[in-house]
Amino acid sequence: MNRYDPKPRELVLIGGGHTHALLLHQLAQAPLQNTAISLITPSPKAPYTGMLPGFIAGHYAREDLDIDLEHLSTQAGGRLVPGKADRLDRAAGVIGGAGFDDMRFDLVSVDIGITSDLPALPGYAEHAVSAKPLGAYARRWQDWLTKVEDGALRPDVVVLGAGVAGVELALAMAFRLQAHAPVLRIIDRGRALPNIGHFARRRLLSHLARFGVEVLEHTQVTAIDADHLHCADGRTIGASFVVGVAGTRPQDWLNGTGLELENGFIKVDHHLRALSDQRVFAVGDCAHMTHAPRPKAGVFAVRQAPFLLANLRAATGGGAWRAYQPQRDYLKLVSLGDKTALADKWGLPLEGRWLWRLKDGIDAKFMQQFRG
Ligand SMILES: Cc1cc2nc3c(=O)[nH]c(=O)nc-3n(C[C@H](O)[C@H](O)[C@H](O)COP(=O)(O)OP(=O)(O)OC[C@H]3O[C@@H](n4cnc5c(N)ncnc54)[C@H](O)[C@@H]3O)c2cc1C
Repeated sequence: MNRYDPKPRELVLIGGGHTHALLLHQLAQAPLQNTAISLITPSPKAPYTGMLPGFIAGHYAREDLDIDLEHLSTQAGGRLVPGKADRLDRAAGVIGGAGFDDMRFDLVSVDIGITSDLPALPGYAEHAVSAKPLGAYARRWQDWLTKVEDGALRPDVVVLGAGVAGVELALAMAFRLQAHAPVLRIIDRGRALPNIGHFARRRLLSHLARFGVEVLEHTQVTAIDADHLHCADGRTIGASFVVGVAGTRPQDWLNGTGLELENGFIKVDHHLRALSDQRVFAVGDCAHMTHAPRPKAGVFAVRQAPFLLANLRAATGGGAWRAYQPQRDYLKLVSLGDKTALADKWGLPLEGRWLWRLKDGIDAKFMQQFRG
């Protein structure tokens, strides 16, 4: 196919993750030649995770977090297809899923993130909510909070998973619930905060203690009921709100694509192209960068966008390929519930209000580009 081919090639974007949102924004200014663009997404709006703890703490309104994918798709000259992909038939060149008819593709890019649900844990589906996808968590939190404020429920919260995101959310909820004498626990089957610098870890644990959040390490939850959890050691723990931040699970349907995967994540090269199919790109958390593996973090999803744009352009015969080399380390800004934040880079923790203002400014700038 060349650029003078009158029949446009079909580029299908699966998922409105951070990379695709930025890609659409950039495509509005620099469209691809002779290419029809479709975005498959379960929701016309995608929430920006970086601001989630601030929303939970009560510092932002729900709509402050929304990226308007419908608007971005239209601006990019594309169309939004409501639905959820669950099939990529590469032999037939077709994408299938719930909510839409099978779609033909010439090129496809996948940016569907991860899920943090725990399907093997009895009672999880009925009585807990995952931090991702974020929309359901934001809604359930708001409903639950109203009941707590009305005195209809006791503010007993359990966070499953004591990584940085779990701790950040626990601090945000603790701050929001201060007036209600909450009981907050954060439970992990391993050690809390294993992937952050030693000093930052100590600081975060002391902030949890300051808010009265109990940290239960090496504790295996075996089942969840409506108002309590069961642990492997026989303990039961009361909870009227359980949020799961434990897993970084890829979506199961990727196994059926026949693409080469690393623990379920799509293996890509330095051009963000699937190792096993030159028509397929994958970005953000659902991709595994074989040339430079990195932890799952939004910072990489964001930085990939201009490279994805250049390489889609190259794949459609319009420019040079660009190799993406992710940075080794990045500034982790962790909000601490109140309007303060902690920074961790090169093992050096800093904290204060000015870091919250810095984070707030970075997030506002990120969101502003979609609204301009
Ligand atoms: C509480 C919390 C705080 C965080 N804070 C930070 C931070 O400060 N800095 C940082 O770098 N990272 C942070 N992260 C991690 C960051 O959120 C992720 O790395 C980032 O969101 C990944 O972006 P993505 O492009 O992979 O897609 P995502 O943002 O995960 O979005 C995926 C999109 O795909 C859609 N989708 C899912 N399945 C399908 C399907 N089958 N078909 C079609 N569409 C689908 C979803 O609706 C969603 O809109 C945080 C995570 C959490 C949970």
